[in-house]
Amino acid sequence: MKAVYIEQHGAADVLIFGERPTPEPGPGEALVRVAASGVNFIDTYHRIGLYKVALPFTLGVEGAGTVASVGAGVKTLAPGDRVAWAMEPGSYAEHAKVPAWRLVKIPDGLSFETAAAAMLQGMTAHYLTHSTFPLAPGHTALIHAAAGGTGLLLVQMAKMRGARVIGTVGAAAKAKLAREAGADDIIIYTEQDFAAETRRLTANTGVDVVYDSVGKSTWEGSLNSLKPRGYLVTFGNASGPAPEFSPLLLTQKGSLFVTRPSLAHYAATAEEIASRAGDVLDWVQTGQLKLRIDRTYPLAEAAQSHRDLESRATTGKLVLHI
Ligand code: NDP
Repeated sequence: MKAVYIEQHGAADVLIFGERPTPEPGPGEALVRVAASGVNFIDTYHRIGLYKVALPFTLGVEGAGTVASVGAGVKTLAPGDRVAWAMEPGSYAEHAKVPAWRLVKIPDGLSFETAAAAMLQGMTAHYLTHSTFPLAPGHTALIHAAAGGTGLLLVQMAKMRGARVIGTVGAAAKAKLAREAGADDIIIYTEQDFAAETRRLTANTGVDVVYDSVGKSTWEGSLNSLKPRGYLVTFGNASGPAPEFSPLLLTQKGSLFVTRPSLAHYAATAEEIASRAGDVLDWVQTGQLKLRIDRTYPLAEAAQSHRDLESRATTGKLVLHI
């Protein structure tokens, strides 16, 4: 089968579009004929080796397609079912082997492209706003990279939960999108000191929670944006990993909390996936949640999708058609 894989770590040029053996589904697994694959920042971490993977490695941890066959013991799925998944590698390929418990059925009326675009970033925004720091009316949240794939969904879900949202974006052109998603205030953090601006916007109080997907470059400013006993949810490394720190720093900054969550631990069972993905796909279908698919690419051009994502040129989701 055709697939995009790596034999070594490095820049986007290390991606190989070539032939790989079609996987065989083992017990409890399904073989999916992939129609669309979501591109996520995590794919770049796998590519550069920030997150460890065994080589050769077929990229992509999010996809949608049709069940081609099932392994022993799989009772919940049958060939022909339309399914989607996140957090299982191998989606940049014509076929992927996925544990059946990770697969959700795609509701009628939703395309493969939409399902592949919604799963990973949608479930992420869901767990961050509903579980890691459950937002409620009266809370103020600072959301970085608010016009990104995850950011646009996070802003919308934070508003659904009744919170006030301050969003940061890297360029003025992105501000409009974050506002349309519901952000109450926007800071262009490449031009303004976002911590000072956040303090100004909150009458010097600070925010209850910062959802920080940027990591290294925003770490200190995020801590400085929080009210005493506030929560820093640092969940990504778009600018590089957040630095190591002493717990005493949290005392000095106001008895703060820091957590570094992963979707893997918040979509850990079939029930949890069904619940989160069920909400996300339902909200997309009913129009409560708007998905912005910014760019699509043929599988052979996966490397270009990585270059675009890493250059901060994109807003919303990138999808590969297979
Ligand atoms: P995005 O679409 O948000 O793209 C990344 C954005 O980060 C850019 O558009 C840019 O927006 C911003 N950014 C800031 N600094 C940099 C930099 N130095 N280089 C590149 N981008 C930068 O990507 P995703 O939605 O796929 O992922 C966003 C983040 O969320 C990633 O860090 C990812 O790892 C993380 N994530 C974590 C999950 C988890 O469970 N822990 C799950 C899903 C995603 P701007 O120009 O506006 O600053």
